[in-house]
Order: sequence, then structure tokens, then C-alpha cells
Amino acid sequence: MASTYQGRRPGGGSRRPGGKGGRGKGGRGGARTVALRRTGPIVREPVTLPSVLTLGELAERLETTGVEVIKELMKLGMMATINQQVDYATAARVAQALGWETNPEESDLSGQGDSFETRRSESDLDPEARTRPPVVTIMGHVDHGKTKLLDSIRSANVAEGEAGGITQHIGAYQVDAQGRKITFLDTPGHEAFTAMRARGAQATDVAVLVVAADDGVMPTTREAVAHIKSAQVPLVVAINKIDLPAANPDRVKQQLSEMEVMPEEWGGDVPFVEVSALAKLGLEDLLEVIQLVADVHELKANPLKPASGVVVEAKIDRTRGPVATLLVQSGTLNPRDVVVAGGTWGRVKAMFDDRGRKIRRAEPSMPVEILGLLEAPQAGDQFMVFTDEKLAREVAERRTAERRAESLSADRSFKLTEFSREVSEGGVAELRVILKADVSGSLGAIQTALLKLNEDVPDGVQLSITYAGTGAIGESDVSLATATHSIIIGFNVRPDVAAKRAADASGVDIRFYNIIYNLLDEVRAAMTGLLAPIFQDVTDGYAEVRETFKLPGGDMVAGLYVLDGRISRNSRTRVLRSGTVVHEGTVRSLKRFKDDVREVAAGYECGLGLDGFNDLQVGDQVEFFHREEVART
Ligand code: GDP
Repeated sequence: MASTYQGRRPGGGSRRPGGKGGRGKGGRGGARTVALRRTGPIVREPVTLPSVLTLGELAERLETTGVEVIKELMKLGMMATINQQVDYATAARVAQALGWETNPEESDLSGQGDSFETRRSESDLDPEARTRPPVVTIMGHVDHGKTKLLDSIRSANVAEGEAGGITQHIGAYQVDAQGRKITFLDTPGHEAFTAMRARGAQATDVAVLVVAADDGVMPTTREAVAHIKSAQVPLVVAINKIDLPAANPDRVKQQLSEMEVMPEEWGGDVPFVEVSALAKLGLEDLLEVIQLVADVHELKANPLKPASGVVVEAKIDRTRGPVATLLVQSGTLNPRDVVVAGGTWGRVKAMFDDRGRKIRRAEPSMPVEILGLLEAPQAGDQFMVFTDEKLAREVAERRTAERRAESLSADRSFKLTEFSREVSEGGVAELRVILKADVSGSLGAIQTALLKLNEDVPDGVQLSITYAGTGAIGESDVSLATATHSIIIGFNVRPDVAAKRAADASGVDIRFYNIIYNLLDEVRAAMTGLLAPIFQDVTDGYAEVRETFKLPGGDMVAGLYVLDGRISRNSRTRVLRSGTVVHEGTVRSLKRFKDDVREVAAGYECGLGLDGFNDLQVGDQVEFFHREEVART
């Protein structure tokens, strides 16, 4: 029997930085708590709130009137009546707007801040809630068969006669498994999964981790496990490609059990299913296990309310205008409904299901493609139906403005210096770290040493490791950091271009070290509130080596293509080979054609010579940076 898989919470500290993430705010709860503490003296005791309560009850606890509460809620973009229930995150935002600090009720600690849990408890209390189909995301290493599995499940479970019909790809589809539906999000991989989480949305009820039986656990498998655990989503493992002679399912089980993903048959709580996406073996079993896991979690939603949910994908179609795929999570969506999705809104002009058929209603867990929004929202944006067009427009505009303000003040609570400041003021805090290192030897040593710092820091201050792995810092590390409010520490590794861009956009603090002592010293200083002023490397640009030449004197120059930013003669440089730093130093010459130049911008080629380094190779990336002092706030 499938039982509850609860991913071990990273760190398990007393404070959960992501805990109070409110809707539409990207879930940056920690930031808000910190910010609030700063705004002025707190004169009242914090108010304790349950995971779900009605607005009437909330008003009572906040010693105010229902009207005041409803007004605050409207400012946050929600319409509700006094008898309507809200979850902890929403109630906390209202409370904070009215000058209260909040605590979740003890018994609710497990659920608070996790939208999956919150949604569930919300619907538990709703007498009109009905069982809804599970929403499944497929994750795993490249080439392990995610796409094939999605295709096989879909084609095997489309009713006769329809199989030949046009199969639309709208980002999600529903299949019928023995009379019950299952929804699959068909963007495989954890990029989509964490992108959604980073925006405060959680669409997945069950994660299926695909591991090829011949290949075993690979780096992305580990990453996916970290993502699934930190999101506390129930997990099913699909061991794929069992048709191959080289298939070794026991090895996969062994490897995963070493990562605390223990098969049920070995006494653990994770169901494993052996499948072949190619030979279509075991697919029925997989669907059945997914249903079992869903049953254990009693997924429910009330179909009788106006719809709300999450945007799965969206685009501008040349002939049809903005097209968005919405996953209805609660309520029922109908044509002509007025919808706010992220920072945009509109009236639903037409709705289509995953086979391109026009439909007239979409119930919980159903993916639906809609026309009628004024712009394309972003994947992970939440949507909800409004009764009033004017209000919808106002809410959409307010959200856009909020978002702009947020992106300007790139979240400070992720920063190590900010953390240190909080500690120095006597705050209780957990420092979450994503650790990347060039080789597993140093990774293990640093991990142990970092955790050892916990023995010698002020009470209530704690460091936990969200994820540790070897290799370059990638975009998925940044999205995991955003979703879990972690900082990233790189030891002898650097981010690739995409990761750097993502970090700049999201404000994730990435720190680099090449001496373990410095790394530990700085983290220790932060944890005791004494982080000294620091210099930070600011990247000016990245370039890639396309060709190399030896000069008559023995020196080398390389032909580079600038990928990103601007590179400058005065910058310092770091040479990266497969994400590992192989050299750091200054520029000897920078030329365009025959001329010395001061700067070269992205999209241009140039010639580069480095002081004291004649080993540039084709494919190396050169990072250009300068040092800036970071003011200690
Ligand atoms: P993804 O990168 O995880 O989406 O992997 P794909 O679905 O693209 O599959 C990668 C390769 O493995 C393709 O050539 C598939 O045909 C093959 N493949 C997928 N599933 C199976 C399977 O069950 N058995 C065998 N033998 N090959 C498979």
C-alpha cells in the first residue's frame, strides 16, 4: 500500500523562511516578516491563527470589524464575504496589514506555508468539497524517458476512435484510468516545477521520478529528489526501460535508498513501479499507484465556487491573441467568467480541453486552454475568477505594480549579510544553504564543517543544507534557492550564464570561495551576527573561447565571442572549464580586429590575451568581473 511520503524537511529548523508566503507575492514570506519587524515598535502580542478560518472569526481575533477585514482583503486582490474561509497565509497578510504579527497555531505547523497542505485542509473543512483527480509532474534525468512516458500514458489512455484525432499540447492533459481521471503536467523536468514554486504556486500533488533501469541515479535525479523533498510532495518512483537487457532495477532501488528514498518493499514509504515507456509495460500499475497515493492524501476541492488555480503555460498566438492554459484547482471555470491571472485579466471568450475540443465547464484538476486575457500571464501565476470587471482590472493593475516594486527591491532576505544583521539584532533565524563544489571530496568536507558551525552559534540560529552537489551552479540551483529561500555557496565553481541571469533577476545571493577557511569564516561570522564588510564580485560579462592562436613570442591569444554583458580591459577574469575555475587574473590585451579596445559588448567577437596564462582552450568560458564593496546595512 502506498503510504504518506513526507520528504524530509530541509533543516527542520524552528523557523521556516518560506512559511508565510502569501498569494501573488511570490511567497517570499521571510522577507515580509523581517520587513514588518523593521517598520516600527510592535505594541501587541502576536496573534495566533489556525490554518483555516472564516473572515468573521479573523475579524474577532484581530479585534476589528468584518468590514475592515474585507476591505484589507480587497486591497490584496480578493473578494470575499464574511462567512468565507481563508487560509493561514491570507489571514496572516490581512493581520499584518492591520498591524499584527502572527503565529500559526501549533497543530498547524506542519501545513502552514505549504500551499498543497493548506489547500487540503481548506477543503477538508468545506462540506461541499469533492474528491478531485491528482495532478502529476514527471521528473528525472535527461534521456531517462520522461517524454516517452508522458506520450505512452497519453496514447494508451485515449479512448478508441479518438486516438487518431489531433492531440493538442497545451502543457497538461488528463487521462482516464479505470474510470478515474489523472492530470499530467506535460512539461517534464523540475525547471517548470520549481519555477511554479518560486512564484508561490504548487500545482503538483504527486511527483513521479523516472529513473532509467540501465543508467541508474544521475545528477539530475539527485536534484529532482531534493526539489521534491523540499516541496514535500508525495513521490512515486518509476524505474523505466526495464525492457533493456542491461536493466538493473535493484541497483536503482539501492542507490535511491541511500538518498533516503526507501522503497516500500524494503520497509520504506515510497512506492516503486517498474515500467517500460517504450514497450508499454507497467503503465497501468503506475497509474494505479498514483491513484492510491492520491487516495491516501484525500485530494479534494469544492467545484461549486468560482474558479481559481494556476497558470500552466501561456503564449501570444499570432491569430488567436493571448492563449493561456489554466489548471483549475478549486471551483468551476465557465465561459464568460472574468479572470485575473497574474498581472493581467480578461473575460473568457472560449475554452478548450487538451484535445482541442470546445468545452463549457472546467472542474477542479482540469487543465483548460482559454482565450480572452488581455496579455499572456506567466507560468506559475495564480488566477481567480472575479464577479466584477472593474475590480478585476484594478486587482490586475495592483499586482503588476506590486511585482514591479518587488523586482526593484530584489529581495534582501536571501542575502547572507542581511541574515547576519538579523542575527545581530537577536533574531531567530535559519540559514539555508545550497552548496555546490567542484569535486565530491571537498563537497563532503565543507558540508560536514558547515553543519558543525551549528554547535557554536547563538540560540535559535541554525544552518541547514537544502541541497549539496558537485558541478557548475545551474539555473535549477537558482530556482531551488528562490523556492526555498536559500543562499548558494559555490566552492571552486561558478554559475553558467543562465544561472547568473536568473540569480540577478531573483536576487538570490550566490557566494563563491576557493579557500575552505574563508568560506567557513564568513558563514560563521554571519551566524554570529558579525559578518565583516565584504567585497563582492560583480560580473561584467561572459565570453566563450571559439579559437586559439600562438603568438611568435610564445604567448597565446584567443578569439572570443561575448555571450552576455560587456567585457572590459580593466576587468579581472576567471577562466571556467566545465564550470570549474582553472585560472584567475588580469587582461593582457583586448582587441577588435587589429585595434586595442576598452570594452566589447555581447554579440561581438574579440581577441583576448591573459596575463600569465597561456592555456585557454576552445569551449572555455571567461567571466569578466570587478570587485565592489558591499555596504553592511
Ligand atoms: P527524456 O529526456 O527523459 O524526456 O527522455 P525521452 O523520453 O526523450 O527518452 C530518451 C530515449 O530513451 C529515447 O530514445 C526513447 O525512445 C528511449 N526510451 C524511453 N523509454 C524507454 C524504454 O522504456 N525502453 C527503452 N528501451 N528505451 C526507452
